[in-house]
Amino acid sequence: MQKIAILYDASQAVLSTFDLDEVLQRILVIARDYFHLQNVAILLLDKETQELCVRSQIGWDDGHDKLRLPVGHGITGIAAKKKRPLYVPDVTKDPRYISSAKTTRSELAIPMMVRDEVVGVLDCQSDNLDLFDKETIDLLTLFSTQASMALQNARLYSLERRRAQQLEAINAIAKQTTAVLEVKELLEKVCSLIQEAFQVSHVSVLLREEDDLVLRAHYGNLTPRILEGGRLTAVAGIWGRALSAGKTVIEHNVHSLPDYVGLYAETGSRMCIPLVSFGQTLGVLLLDSAETGAFQSGDTQSLESVADICATAIQNAHYVERVKQLAYLDGLTGIFNRRFFELRISEEIERARRFDTGMAVIMVDIDNFKRLNDEFGHLLGDEVLRQVSSIFHQQLRKIDVVCRYGGEEFAMLLSQTNSQHALSVAEKLRRLVETWQFPGVPRRVTISAGAASYPEDGTTRDELVKAADAGLYAAKQAGRNLVVPAPTAQKGWAHGSRG
Ligand code: GH3
Ligand code: MG
Ligand code: MG
Repeated sequence: MQKIAILYDASQAVLSTFDLDEVLQRILVIARDYFHLQNVAILLLDKETQELCVRSQIGWDDGHDKLRLPVGHGITGIAAKKKRPLYVPDVTKDPRYISSAKTTRSELAIPMMVRDEVVGVLDCQSDNLDLFDKETIDLLTLFSTQASMALQNARLYSLERRRAQQLEAINAIAKQTTAVLEVKELLEKVCSLIQEAFQVSHVSVLLREEDDLVLRAHYGNLTPRILEGGRLTAVAGIWGRALSAGKTVIEHNVHSLPDYVGLYAETGSRMCIPLVSFGQTLGVLLLDSAETGAFQSGDTQSLESVADICATAIQNAHYVERVKQLAYLDGLTGIFNRRFFELRISEEIERARRFDTGMAVIMVDIDNFKRLNDEFGHLLGDEVLRQVSSIFHQQLRKIDVVCRYGGEEFAMLLSQTNSQHALSVAEKLRRLVETWQFPGVPRRVTISAGAASYPEDGTTRDELVKAADAGLYAAKQAGRNLVVPAPTAQKGWAHGSRG
């Protein structure tokens, strides 16, 4: 009678829910209560590592959940290896016993089987010596069969659910990425969408640049060891192998790799998928998990679909960026145009205001350029414009902005710069142009410049441009080949010599 009651309860538990952890917990409660056990656990077999991992337990502290036991070790490990129940009536007398609970006196380990395969072990421990008689062992064995079925059902169900969720995620990612055309924003979105949809610890996108890979975006819970924009050699590590083979690579335990490159402090396992669009390899999608063995090869297909979508979106965003860039470049000289200047000056002012760093605007005009055109022809005039642009571009820092403002006029934005420094930069440019040998121009070419700085000469775009222009006008008035500060800050000084 008791036998039927237990099995009935167990089958009810099995049928009641598809949630694996809930099923296992219910099974353990039944086992504990009917058989008066102190410690019961279900350990599942990790096929990759051939270890038994505690999935559900009653009686131990929380830390017991982390326990991993190699197959063949301890009472549970041996039961799994031999594929039959193993009973030890007095654990103190059995050298195979590995203690996990101080008060345990007798232990029964029953392998959980699906067909002929071990999927886990039901581990029953009692504080009493020799608690389990033959009938109890038989009953618990039947009981563990129920648990195995529950396990299998829940696994199948969760696999199905996982597939459905992944399909939904792929759909969502496809929809959301096609709408984003700015590369940086796109990559950030891609990382966060994948991280959430696939529940991995961290997602990164590394894009190819020359022979390197550059970390362009990442999202997740792990601690980065490399900054965004950091470069990594493309031939080493898991991505080296993924790129050269042109296919997805999974590392179940990164610590066992000789060429492991750690991007995040806690990574245990990693999946690397090449990002390929129209035959062009753009980089890799990298998934990191804090746990070892977190990636199943069954997930590869879904993630590869996601990677394909991302690669196409990245490629599109790159095209758009390129077209945008062209719209901001001057066709003749290759430096930025006035449109770009208008776009950036407000950003620079805002940055200077927020961080209290100062910034400056320099306006430059080539002197008597009309005459130069008249004397030597328009084509040579064009070449002078190109060379002057190139001098400016080379002389300024990467963070500065050099634009062709119009005709033979140039405008520059110097970030984190005070008026003193701006004037000396302009003066350096004036002197360089003055002494430059322009091929085909048998006389010197000179420039005039005006400089204005934030906040002394103005706090808005219009004020600053006007102030710098006024300096330039004053330089022309004073005879050209001069640098003059904005009139408001003018303290009677002007650089240069009369041309
Ligand atoms: P100033 O010293 O007062 O600036 O005299 P300037 O002759 O330089 O000034 P002005 O504004 O009278 O003439 C500018 C000339 O620049 C007129 C125009 O033909 C020439 N120019 C403008 N854009 C281009 C260009 O793209 N190529 C060439 N070759 N010349 C250009
Ligand atoms: Mg001019
Ligand atoms: Mg002009």
